[in-house]
Amino acid sequence: MIDTHCHIDFEDYDSDREEVIKRAKDKLDYVIASGFNLESNQNVLNLSKEYEGFIYPTFGFHPVSSQNSTDEELKEAQDHLLDNLKDIVAIGEVGMDYFYVTDKTLRERQQEIFTSFLELANEYKVPIVMHVRDCEKKAVNIIEPYEDIPYFVFHCYGGSLKTAKRIMNRDNCFMSFSTMLCYSQHHQDLIEKIDLDYVLTETDSPYLAMTKEERNEPVNVVNAVKKIAEIKEMELDTVDEITTSNARKIFKI
Ligand SMILES: [Zn+2]
Repeated sequence: MIDTHCHIDFEDYDSDREEVIKRAKDKLDYVIASGFNLESNQNVLNLSKEYEGFIYPTFGFHPVSSQNSTDEELKEAQDHLLDNLKDIVAIGEVGMDYFYVTDKTLRERQQEIFTSFLELANEYKVPIVMHVRDCEKKAVNIIEPYEDIPYFVFHCYGGSLKTAKRIMNRDNCFMSFSTMLCYSQHHQDLIEKIDLDYVLTETDSPYLAMTKEERNEPVNVVNAVKKIAEIKEMELDTVDEITTSNARKIFKI
């Protein structure tokens, strides 16, 4: 079992990170730690070195926090990414968020930044992990021309079933489902109809716990896998096997 997306570098874990990782290690094969800005990218890289063979890093530039970044900041993050290309398993999280960002100019800026990362992923043939919220259809159109990107992952996919079907029309596009499955009817309805060959599992820790007050952690990805098995009326082991092998293939781990 793999938590393909979490933020274990956040200060939420500063007091007990070691125990959190130990609990994950007892149950999971791997954890993928997603960077979201220059500093976080360096932190997830450090963690991946500390827990070599268990934690794998991706380097990103989060669409919500990046909307106001200058060209210099963007360049600095991208130079850092290129310097560490051999150590990361994907670029991400990058993307577009129309839920939090409603201003037209800022949305255009998000798209511009997202596109610059798609170009890097395409040039260096690296998988890309995308944060896309309330603009999934648009994102599917935007990624279309990038033929050299080996795999695309829609992290925490929450779009329509119609767009999910377009995603399933491509053999290199995946949707990741989180512990949100335990309480979100929309996600439960989606997973019922989505073929597991296009599915990954994640927690997005520390976010998306059962209640807003709680802190999520990577080992809880087990709950997402259980929920998928329950909804699809499949054996837990079968769900685990398929989703784990999808993740291994994408991230080459
Ligand atoms: Zn995230």
